[in-house]
Amino acid sequence: MTSPNRFAIIGNPLDHSLSPAMHNAAFRVAGIDARYEAFPLDSRDLPRGVRQLRHEGYTGFNVTIPHKESILNYLDEIDRDAADIGAVNTVVQSDGILKGHNTDITGFERALESLHVDLVSLKAVVFGAGGAARAVVHALLRLGGQVTLVNRDRERARRLARQAVRPVDIRKSDDPALLEAIERASLLVNATPLGMGHLAERSPLPPDGRLIPGTTVLDLVYGHRTPFLNLASLSGCRTMDGLEMLVQQGAESFRLWTRVGPDIEVMRQACLAQLQTVERCSVS
Ligand code: NAP
Repeated sequence: MTSPNRFAIIGNPLDHSLSPAMHNAAFRVAGIDARYEAFPLDSRDLPRGVRQLRHEGYTGFNVTIPHKESILNYLDEIDRDAADIGAVNTVVQSDGILKGHNTDITGFERALESLHVDLVSLKAVVFGAGGAARAVVHALLRLGGQVTLVNRDRERARRLARQAVRPVDIRKSDDPALLEAIERASLLVNATPLGMGHLAERSPLPPDGRLIPGTTVLDLVYGHRTPFLNLASLSGCRTMDGLEMLVQQGAESFRLWTRVGPDIEVMRQACLAQLQTVERCSVS
């Protein structure tokens, strides 16, 4: 009897990760004998954890907070887009070689496509400069957009801009030019955890920020309406949370691992069912 293909997500915290439910559902309907598990890993344990996944022959794994950038040091090969942005969220193991990819880029592009955002002269403001923001900014610049970037740690924003394929405008959160950029933007993206967990009551929008009706607002946080999305809806903006991007990046990881196109609707429904379970547990 052959053992099932093994997959995992590494990161910390993983308590509420939807990836195991999403991928196990996709493997089941595709008739693929595989098991996908959460593999919690602190930063100091990353080298040991990657060695273990390699030696135990995992076919692939996803990488999330806080390892998307540091994982590059432990891989044998990096795909071009992932190398360009310096962040990996998917690893494929083949013949003992670990290769890193970034499917957040495609995930974000597909989520944007589903919103039918006008890409001609796209102007975007992105909040955050971490791993997810790197993928978002890369995708937007590749689509020909102009990007204004805001981040608490300005040096981190500058590092992102230095690696970007085209110029990125960096602004402080109290800069009047940022408020103008927000009003002129056709797209606003929250790529910070503001709105989730212990930051659930917070929004990335500066106190004087004004949302213009018709602007598209995409929050990468998923699972509940964040203060940012609530305010955007009240202001007449079009809104979307991060679930579609999560599903689409997962679908792209699945393709890389199996060379099979997954049933995306099954993945979406598995995420929604898992979110309902988490919600029921937190109220009971
Ligand atoms: P990360 O690499 O750790 O980056 C976190 C970013 O958020 C940094 O820019 C950080 O700013 C900022 N930040 C953190 N705490 C903050 C605070 N209290 N106030 C202001 N800014 C704060 O994380 P990531 O991987 O980019 O993920 C960011 C968010 O996107 C998370 O909520 C994650 O769940 C979500 N995400 C969603 C998807 C999806 O498919 N929907 C995919 C990837 C990520 P500093 O640099 O100043 O610390």
